[in-house]
Formats: sequence, C-alpha cells, structure tokens
Amino acid sequence: MYKCLDCGHIFDDGEQAVSREYHDEILGGFHEDFASCPICGGDFEETVECEKCHGEFLTDELIGGYYCEECLKAALTVDGFLDFAEYADENLGDSDLHTVEHFMLVWVYGVSDSAITGSSKDFRALMTEEFEETVRAAVYVSNDDFLENLWNYLHDYDMLGSFAEWLYDKEVRK
Ligand SMILES: [Zn+2]
Ligand SMILES: [Zn+2]
Repeated sequence: MYKCLDCGHIFDDGEQAVSREYHDEILGGFHEDFASCPICGGDFEETVECEKCHGEFLTDELIGGYYCEECLKAALTVDGFLDFAEYADENLGDSDLHTVEHFMLVWVYGVSDSAITGSSKDFRALMTEEFEETVRAAVYVSNDDFLENLWNYLHDYDMLGSFAEWLYDKEVRK
C-alpha cells in the first residue's frame, strides 16, 4: 500500500497515476514514467502497518516503528507507565535518577533538569509514594489529564520510541 505525502490518500499498488514524458530530442527517443497520487498528483511512499490497529501509516508516523500515535496513547496506563519506568531504569540511559522520581521532580514540582543531581534511595522511595499519591488524587480530578501528562513527559524526554519498543516486546515478542 501507498500513502500520499500531500493529501494522505492511501491506495493499492496499481492505482497510482502515471504520467509519461517523451524525450524525442535524443536519437531514437525515450520516455520516462512518473507515478503519483491518483487523487492529487502528489508524491507518495510505501506504508507500514501499525502492530495494533493494522492501519496503514508512513514509516515516520509509527512511533518506534511499531504503533500509531492513537494506539500507543491508548496503551499508556498508570500501571504501564510504572512497568515501563522500571524497564527504563534498568536498560536506558546512564543517570542515577529513576524515571518516576524524575517525572515527579520536573513535571509535577517543576524543578529544572540542571538543578537535579542524583538522589538517595530514601528520596526515591519518597517520590514513588508521591507518585502514587498523585495518581490517587488524579482519579478525582481527571484521570485523562494525568495520562496526558505522562504522555507529554515521555514525548518531551524522547522516550516514546522506547515505550513503543517495550510494549511491542511485551505484547508481541512476549
Ligand atoms: Zn494525494
Ligand atoms: Zn494503530
């Protein structure tokens, strides 16, 4: 399948519009074929399937190469975030700082990244408690807002790709 880069139209191989350009000025002449979107004439690229909804997407629309934004967003739960955080702490980055406490510090308390320098085990435990407290409180306000915060945090700290990969490992590779 293909997707138009201009209008977003998705189409099968064989449906692309083809225009032919003749070059008679050269001895014998030759022609070139240009393929384009059948709707708007724009450029197109081959699509890849989202692992969850099996919709057709351009490669750079799939987060981590696996999931469309909608599917990955739907998969982000508080428990999922905590599981992923544990994985991230063990496997990603080289900071002493754990994901949950980092999230609490920069996202909830607004501490700037440069002001944070490692932390103690006790402090980490405290931040984990605070996180759970925030989750409990969020239920009464708006759970969706809280999930949106988690999503934006992963996005801003460039972790969505790793989150998608982690989810794929968990759900598909097992
Ligand atoms: Zn088009
Ligand atoms: Zn999807």
